[in-house]
Amino acid sequence: MTITGLSSLHCEHFIPSAETPALGFTRWSDTNIDRPSLVVIPENEADVQAAMGLARTNHLIIVTGGGGHGTYVPVGPKNLYLDMRKFQTILLDKARCTVRIGGGVVTGDLLKSLALDGYYTALPNSNAVGVVGCVLGAGSTPLNGLHGVMADMVQSFRIVVSEDSVIEVKASSTGEHLSLFNALCGAGHGLGVVTAITTSAYPISSLNMTDDKICIRSLMFPPTSIETAVRAFLDLSRPSPKVSNTLTFLRIPVSGSANGVPVIAIGSTCFGSLRDAKDESSALYSERFVEVSSKAGTDMVPMEHLNDRFEPQNKHGGHKAIASCRLKAIDVETITTAFESWLSVTERVPGAWRSIVAISRFNSTRHKELGAGIGGDRFIESRDRDFSAMTIVMCNDAAGLDAMTDYMTNFVRMMRAGDASSTPRSFPNNLRFGIDLEEMFDKHKLAELRRIKHIWDPQGIFWSPFMSDPA
Ligand SMILES: Cc1cc2nc3c(=O)[nH]c(=O)nc-3n(C[C@H](O)[C@H](O)[C@H](O)COP(=O)(O)OP(=O)(O)OC[C@H]3O[C@@H](n4cnc5c(N)ncnc54)[C@H](O)[C@@H]3O)c2cc1C
Repeated sequence: MTITGLSSLHCEHFIPSAETPALGFTRWSDTNIDRPSLVVIPENEADVQAAMGLARTNHLIIVTGGGGHGTYVPVGPKNLYLDMRKFQTILLDKARCTVRIGGGVVTGDLLKSLALDGYYTALPNSNAVGVVGCVLGAGSTPLNGLHGVMADMVQSFRIVVSEDSVIEVKASSTGEHLSLFNALCGAGHGLGVVTAITTSAYPISSLNMTDDKICIRSLMFPPTSIETAVRAFLDLSRPSPKVSNTLTFLRIPVSGSANGVPVIAIGSTCFGSLRDAKDESSALYSERFVEVSSKAGTDMVPMEHLNDRFEPQNKHGGHKAIASCRLKAIDVETITTAFESWLSVTERVPGAWRSIVAISRFNSTRHKELGAGIGGDRFIESRDRDFSAMTIVMCNDAAGLDAMTDYMTNFVRMMRAGDASSTPRSFPNNLRFGIDLEEMFDKHKLAELRRIKHIWDPQGIFWSPFMSDPA
């Protein structure tokens, strides 16, 4: 395809070709990622607007790239890929307890930058996830119990909405600006290009943690102790807002074992004092569980290192997907059946052994309160559910991922069967190709989202996962 008007671009850009096999950008998953017609790396808002003009002239759909971790984003010849890597602002305002974050900042950089100043904000558990990308799909974090999701904390978005308009939308905006703000909080894909957000930030000292460190109590169990492990997880009392608990199935690489060694890990993460942490995770100190475990420990982790243990999951490339759901309740039988299913599929499908299951619980009281108050019109669902269950499937090739499709569908079905009274819901951040969009929002909310999209992007320049006929 010949692109016309390239001379209007005053920033780095290139046309990927067959002779240059690398696309010029990398993504967490290569599934449905093909060469776009043009890659643009803007440095400022004028560059973004020039790219929008080019997209319009050349009938290209813009896919905006932040951290590249969206597993539901297709890229191909119909697209202009707008790589936001140069939007790296991080401006902490201690007086206002806010931080201004550029549209290309990733979690790890923000976490470390704020911690250097003694501050934190709620962030996802992967250092490589784009902060803005995560907010646009709600943004679940270990601090959900204290602050709600990331989209609850955000105060404003600066967004390029057309070739001649850049606006700042806030909770105090009115009319269609307010509608846009609400949609950006949780369903914000394809409404424009977000060059910066302002969100809340707090002193780490306000958490009253012992030595300003997060306490993580963990136990590991072998597969033969699955029932004991699940009981230990479910025996943890409903966490207080400062705590989140997670049960993970994973395989640890061991030389001589092609598929790694399966283990069940339980972690209780407390953003409070050591005494609080011990009270909250007392089940994980009890003899009956510790004796059966293969490993037990307590780590005191500085804020800037909170996500370090998940670093192996950040590698880009390969074929991957996430299937997840939010639940009110979960039981031993459901979890043990899910374990058998995961164990068998990760043994059977070549290259799938890195796939994991994570079931987590936080206290949704604050989340629910926010929904009944200032956050009520934001696009954030399932505010009354403590549990989330997900399987992250990681394969080397497309054939491996295909072979995992039924497993992923069954995983979600199985989890929901144990919580039959709840309407099926998941996080927009965990969208999956081919998923029924009503798993994210009801019909009414989807219709409102499409109305907002039509107001702000009438010509459909931006790719959106929420259109009935996605580009
Ligand atoms: C290993 C891993 C761990 C994860 N952990 C969590 C977690 O703890 N909590 C959670 O909620 N989610 C989590 N996610 C999901 C993640 O938040 C979403 O996939 C999110 O969309 C990733 O954003 P990104 O910028 O990295 O991805 P990208 O693929 O670059 O962006 C995704 C989409 O967001 C939009 N977008 C991104 N930046 C901009 C911008 N500046 N302007 C306009 N639109 C933009 C675009 O529509 C884009 O297509 C995780 C994903 C992975 C792979």
